[in-house]
Amino acid sequence: MTTIAHRLQAIHANLHEVEAEFGRQHSPVQLLAVSKSHSVASMIEAYEAGQRLFGENYLQECLSKQAFLKDYSIEWHFIGPIQSNKTQAIAQHFDWVHSVDRLKIAQRLNDARQGMQTPLNICLQVNISVEETKSGLHENEVESLANEIARLPHLTLRGLMAIPAPTKDKALQRTQFKKVHSIYQALQSQLNFDTLSMGMSEDYEAAIAEGSTMIRIGSAIFGARTYKQISEA
Ligand SMILES: *Cc1c(COP(=O)(O)O)cnc(C)c1O
Repeated sequence: MTTIAHRLQAIHANLHEVEAEFGRQHSPVQLLAVSKSHSVASMIEAYEAGQRLFGENYLQECLSKQAFLKDYSIEWHFIGPIQSNKTQAIAQHFDWVHSVDRLKIAQRLNDARQGMQTPLNICLQVNISVEETKSGLHENEVESLANEIARLPHLTLRGLMAIPAPTKDKALQRTQFKKVHSIYQALQSQLNFDTLSMGMSEDYEAAIAEGSTMIRIGSAIFGARTYKQISEA
């Protein structure tokens, strides 16, 4: 068995334990493999071990990978910051976008999705950290944007995504995820939400404890990233 297959197996085993511990057996957590900076060969190793959901942050990097992987039945998730001049390609080459935080971007994604067979699945990125610089909506802005996006015909609003400030403090991890979950819960029935995208390699257990439905795991599957991505201006 390859290293990547081994790591995936270990994560699934742990996932089952954590689901059982927090009473999540009946609402299992989906595993999104975040492959940014990792090779197509590594992605194929994960695929052959059963992984189907892949997340990428950078459009150009992902488009070249998709060209190699066009015969694989992968569900592609865009999870990085979105520049408005990239919306057309993102809408046409991905199944999901997790990082929507502006109406203008949502409208452009909607327009570009027109004519395709299925709507584009969307999560709104919520920013619960106090830092002003991070992308994402302030919690007070979530409801009105969600209502506007829910009306766009070529998008399906599935829920929320968050990237809390990284910390090794398990209690603080839980506190941050709890906050995102409460925003999610307040809107869930009104907007038919079914997806709460939160939890990464270092904090996914806390995220599951607080109601995550999709964890986004990179380094715990593929190993440390080998480069810092250069920005795509
Ligand atoms: C890179 C990235 C991840 C995965 O991070 P790891 O710590 O490697 O698991 C998850 N979500 C987003 C938005 C990312 O950019």
